[in-house]
Amino acid sequence: MQCPYCKEEIKDGAIKCKHCSSFLNDVSKDSTEKNEVTNRIEVRQKKDKINKTNKFKSETWWQIWGFIVIIAFIIRVFKHCSAK
Ligand SMILES: [Zn+2]
Repeated sequence: MQCPYCKEEIKDGAIKCKHCSSFLNDVSKDSTEKNEVTNRIEVRQKKDKINKTNKFKSETWWQIWGFIVIIAFIIRVFKHCSAK
């Protein structure tokens, strides 16, 4: 990770910067908590999108199947009538 004060490279989870002696604990903790919250929101939004598309897909499939069944029924009736 990078020190937010002097921009020097320091070890992950460091409490104090060895270059400028600034305390980093509060800053890093705060930023990770914020990131976690935004990540959770993003994941939830993605899941909602997936659920919506899945629902849409299944509904369209049922409509297609219903259409096929109706067409098959019409063809059957038409053939039955023309055979007479
Ligand atoms: Zn520093």
